[in-house]
Amino acid sequence: MRDHVARSGILPYLDLDGEAVANCELPFILDPEAFDRRVNWGIKTNAIRSFAAGIIADLCNTFVVLHEFGHIICGHIEGIRYYEEGKKLSELVCRPRKRLNATTRHIETLERRKAWERDADMIGAIFLAQFVGNLANPILTEQHTRVFTDAKGVELEHTLAIVVAALFAFFCYVQGSHRKLHKESSHPHPFVRGLFVKDILVKELARRKNVNMKKFNAFMMERLDEMMDALIDIELLDMRTYSAAHHRALERERNSLKTLHATFKESCARWRWFEW
Ligand SMILES: [Zn+2]
Repeated sequence: MRDHVARSGILPYLDLDGEAVANCELPFILDPEAFDRRVNWGIKTNAIRSFAAGIIADLCNTFVVLHEFGHIICGHIEGIRYYEEGKKLSELVCRPRKRLNATTRHIETLERRKAWERDADMIGAIFLAQFVGNLANPILTEQHTRVFTDAKGVELEHTLAIVVAALFAFFCYVQGSHRKLHKESSHPHPFVRGLFVKDILVKELARRKNVNMKKFNAFMMERLDEMMDALIDIELLDMRTYSAAHHRALERERNSLKTLHATFKESCARWRWFEW
């Protein structure tokens, strides 16, 4: 069994002391295609950290549902049946790797899938902005206030920084599962995905509220740094591979998402529920 007790590095302003209100062992499914392959993880946290973990789990679950909803309203369910002859859209099912001798048709399929994942993330993030806005609502409980604010009061910028770090961790987990299961998916790299979702959330929230970008960026670097340290600890992130060349490759992937969106934006137009 692996112990996943509260880490002082994550949200360090929340104390670690006090009675463990969550003290249990849960069987985690490692492979969504083999439900009986499980590993027991121990969970042990005090009241405030348990509350924060619950909110973060809700946030990630909500994003997953909204991302899938994004696929539906973009018409991807019908699209995959049409373009890939009866295949089902599945987040974790293997897709063929890009082979050296890949055909033009094969490459197009991979690129179309990437464009669809980008679009589902965009829809998911647009809807998630409402959830994030509610978390930073001043009429919240004392527990909400302790997790999402600092001494100065309710902070939309801090809430948004916690959300971005939590989603980044979730994307690393998804990528880590794929890698450990030797599966491939069409999701962008966690850094690319995290930045893309962050940009959409900022844009959406800035339409409704005042977002101080300087304050947000400072909070984001703090929350991301501590999250990355924790992810490195549990081997879901390996910074040894992050060279300057890798950084440039991520930039290229980021830019290519825009091109892929433009190329494939009409691919499911006949099944889409809205106009771009
Ligand atoms: Zn998806």
